[in-house]
Amino acid sequence: MIEHPEVDVVTVGAGWTAGIAAQQLTAQGLTVVSIEKGRAQWTWPDFAHNHDELRFTARHELMHEIERETWTWRPNDRMPSLPMRQYGAFHPGSNVGGAGVHWSAVMWRFLPTDFDYLSHHTERYGRDLLPDGHSNQDWPVGYDELEPHFTQFEVDTGMSGQTGNLNGEILEGGNPYEGPRSRPYPLPPLAPTRAGLRFAEAAEALGYTPFVQPSSILSEGYTDMSGEPRAGCVYCGFCTRYGCHVDAKSSALTAHIPMALDTGRYEIRTRCYVTRIPVDDTGLATGIEYLGPDGREHFQPARTVLVSGYTMSNVRLLMLSTSDAHPDGIGNARGQLGRNATHQIWQQPTIGRFDGERFNTYMGNTSTSHAIYDFAGDVFDHSGLGFIGGGQLFADAGERLPIGTVEGIPTAQGEGAETADGEPREWGQAFKDRIRHWDSYIPITMQAESPAYEFNRFDLDPTYTDFLGRPLLRITFDWTDNERRMYAFIAERAMEIMDRMQPTARVDNPEIEPYNVVDYQSTHIQGGAIMGTDPSNSVTNRYGQVWDAPNVVVTGAALFPQNPGANPTATVNALMYHTLEAMREQNYFRAPGELLS
Ligand SMILES: Cc1cc2nc3c(=O)[nH]c(=O)nc-3n(C[C@H](O)[C@H](O)[C@H](O)COP(=O)(O)OP(=O)(O)OC[C@H]3O[C@@H](n4cnc5c(N)ncnc54)[C@H](O)[C@@H]3O)c2cc1C
Repeated sequence: MIEHPEVDVVTVGAGWTAGIAAQQLTAQGLTVVSIEKGRAQWTWPDFAHNHDELRFTARHELMHEIERETWTWRPNDRMPSLPMRQYGAFHPGSNVGGAGVHWSAVMWRFLPTDFDYLSHHTERYGRDLLPDGHSNQDWPVGYDELEPHFTQFEVDTGMSGQTGNLNGEILEGGNPYEGPRSRPYPLPPLAPTRAGLRFAEAAEALGYTPFVQPSSILSEGYTDMSGEPRAGCVYCGFCTRYGCHVDAKSSALTAHIPMALDTGRYEIRTRCYVTRIPVDDTGLATGIEYLGPDGREHFQPARTVLVSGYTMSNVRLLMLSTSDAHPDGIGNARGQLGRNATHQIWQQPTIGRFDGERFNTYMGNTSTSHAIYDFAGDVFDHSGLGFIGGGQLFADAGERLPIGTVEGIPTAQGEGAETADGEPREWGQAFKDRIRHWDSYIPITMQAESPAYEFNRFDLDPTYTDFLGRPLLRITFDWTDNERRMYAFIAERAMEIMDRMQPTARVDNPEIEPYNVVDYQSTHIQGGAIMGTDPSNSVTNRYGQVWDAPNVVVTGAALFPQNPGANPTATVNALMYHTLEAMREQNYFRAPGELLS
């Protein structure tokens, strides 16, 4: 085992949260090393000529290496779990910058009621509306406490959007349901798409409040905290699954990581795979063990370990780090590790075809779209509906690339359109007729909530192993009747909007598709190492410190007790800022390993 000199902090990977931590900690004079399994990559030159759909979308160049380590899934305990062998449900990142490089950068703050979830719902509806077997709980931190950190992150990196609620005043054009902001968005919203405007017109006629989605993509030039001017979006269409070639899409590569490296106190070691967190007799972490590019085992001693490798990697690493002090893994003394696995509903309840119209969908990014929040969270009255939870609806945002476009065109009704198995036929006259309309479709997408249940969880698979022979992470997850009813209710609203849009032809999906890992379902998978108020209901405290090993700090969405119907990263990164502030203010590094208060 090769042992390196001790540093203050070692991080798993060099993604969004590790990059933020590296920037803030090195600014205080601390030393940080990131152990990253992928390679180094930078806006220039790596993303300069990357408009290559085969390389990045079809062959997943920026994504985690599933041939080395994948995940198994089963819908419930009665079914066998099987490994995901091809990319499907989730697309985590590899390489410096992590998933925050090939992400879509849609940037929602969670609603205030998403944080006091259990007490809010119980108070408003009583216990009866809460679904059977649920394990939802309040977060140990609320919207008001995170607000300054959301704001700081938005200003540090640049954010585009129309403010809907400024210090309690509802402003026209924005999301009227968002929590109060202390400052407006630094930049105006991105340009809307033609499809978005068509959706907005119909939604408004029905009494809803459409607005352009907020985004971590710059709508115009902006000088972020690094002092470097960055360009606004050019709407090239190569966004999700690509690094941004003009640096308009914020990531840890745009400001945080370069600033940390400039201090000389930060090092990223690439092509190094973290295998274990060793601990001392008292149960505190001593650093990180990893497999180097030389094929040898290394030990990086550190006073604090940041478990920042994305939800599934984080939970598995804690489970695999067994020792005398933590025989069932770090954070698992009370069986809390793996609890409250949640995902997100990401489906299209309706797709309309508008013959003779073109929407220029080859342009844009995932945020250049109108959304409505009228059925998100608990902004509407759930009395008598038979479910809790909600979701947002948004129209097609563009970003339609040649290969994906052909795959994504919905089944045409009529003779010869389907195979004997009912699959869309991808050859012949009916197929050709269908793709002629490639730019005339508008899907309405639903992104909806994933409440937590006792039976949805992560653990180690008893059968399947990774390239080192160690158990894979097993995901036991399925929708329940609560989500089926939630989907059906919101899908009906989407179909009413589509009625108003008056398509020539349409495909409706009034019922939720069964959960599986073959189809993309968003990479928003959460829980497993949740934060809470005490060790009996959580793995970590409100700062991500593992109760029984407080110098192990978990970051990212593994901390979420349950997940709202919104993209997670604003909250992931606000939580990171929140922890770093507490470490600074409470002088944590004077004696690392004590619980912050
Ligand atoms: C396709 C896609 C689209 C997305 N779109 C959005 C969006 O629009 N809005 C939004 O809010 N969020 C979005 N997300 C989610 C967002 O990217 C994540 O929330 C965010 O990147 C999480 O930050 P993190 O630091 O937890 O992990 P990451 O940024 O993923 O960083 C983790 C790093 O750790 C490394 N790592 C993991 N395990 C190991 C190991 N064992 N050894 C060494 N290194 C390791 C990885 O290689 C990676 O570089 C999207 C994600 C994907 C994949």
